[in-house]
Amino acid sequence: MRVLIVGAGLYGSVCAHELTQGGHTCKVLEKRNHVGGNIFTRYVAEADCHEHVYGAHIFHTSSERIWNYIRRFAQFNHYVNRVKVSHQDRIYSFPINLFTLYQIFGVRTPEEARARLLAECVPNAAPANMEEYCLSVIGPRLYRIFIEGYTEKQWGRHPRELPADVIKRLPLRLTFDDNYFNDRYQGIPIGGYTAIIERLLDGTSVETGIDFLAEREALMSGYDLVIYTGAIDAFFDYRFGVLEYRSLRFERELVPVRDFQGNAVVNYTEATVPWTRILEHKHFDLSLKAESTLITREYPTAWKKGDIEYYPVRNPPNEALYRRYREEADKLTDRVHFGGRLGEYQYYDMHQIIGAALSLCKKLL
Ligand code: UDP
Repeated sequence: MRVLIVGAGLYGSVCAHELTQGGHTCKVLEKRNHVGGNIFTRYVAEADCHEHVYGAHIFHTSSERIWNYIRRFAQFNHYVNRVKVSHQDRIYSFPINLFTLYQIFGVRTPEEARARLLAECVPNAAPANMEEYCLSVIGPRLYRIFIEGYTEKQWGRHPRELPADVIKRLPLRLTFDDNYFNDRYQGIPIGGYTAIIERLLDGTSVETGIDFLAEREALMSGYDLVIYTGAIDAFFDYRFGVLEYRSLRFERELVPVRDFQGNAVVNYTEATVPWTRILEHKHFDLSLKAESTLITREYPTAWKKGDIEYYPVRNPPNEALYRRYREEADKLTDRVHFGGRLGEYQYYDMHQIIGAALSLCKKLL
């Protein structure tokens, strides 16, 4: 088969690699002037580290199969994501764990912590939104410090107007374990993510700076199959309406100190600080050698057509709209496959993207 892959992010690149290995001829078209999608990294010599240009990406998975797969394309370091929260000039351990509960309530053991949480929380058998869910699990004090302000900044809506599911990504632990993820395997690729993408795309013809949708008829002709990883509503010219996303604005700063904040990620949870987090990239690479450091302040923004899509806003109206596009997409299934965060309108992590791309390729092969 001759396969056209639209988008050189992780999904498209895994497909390109698998299908090329399987004997098919792939061509990859990418709108930006670089490959890698939002996992793109670049080396910054002054700070001697790889910059996560479109936000922090920490690889984690519990699947041995996916872990073995990605390590064919890079070695990984032993980075473990241990986020700190800054709130009104205090630093807290996060995600909420026994040390956080010690910092806030003075409890010292899992039993004391459990009893204190039980006393704090507002029982609710059927929480109708994120706020009610949080109050029922952690109570008002923790909710106000850690969740309310951050979530309102992140999603542009109060947690009362959001479903609870996004917050369920975060662990809540009554031990001192402050690992952000529960997964068995975790790390950052030595040499950055772009090198992984380049290895995946090795042997595939790639063109960057191509706006597929602007000339899709001409570009699709001559191919047996298209794997499209752009936004599904854009593919159908937004005919049923526009799916909602959150976008991000990044302010990067090279600071002439060796270590700015002592950690890769510090979340700023109060509503009055306009950014949600500060990344310090050299900590991802576990390298503090350089005299300078690169930091990025991350500001969530409203998304409008033409902006980079980061987070799908999966609330009931958007879900319903997505289902209409999905029905249209299913009619094209012999010719076009829709995949990835934008093609499937899913809040996917990297390991899930790899899993989804490998299943598609298995089906096709
Ligand atoms: N969240 C929060 N406070 C924090 C970090 C996260 O309330 O300090 C909430 C917020 O609603 C966010 C969700 O938890 O959207 C998931 O956070 P995660 O860190 O998994 O988001 P990502 O890293 O994908 O942006």
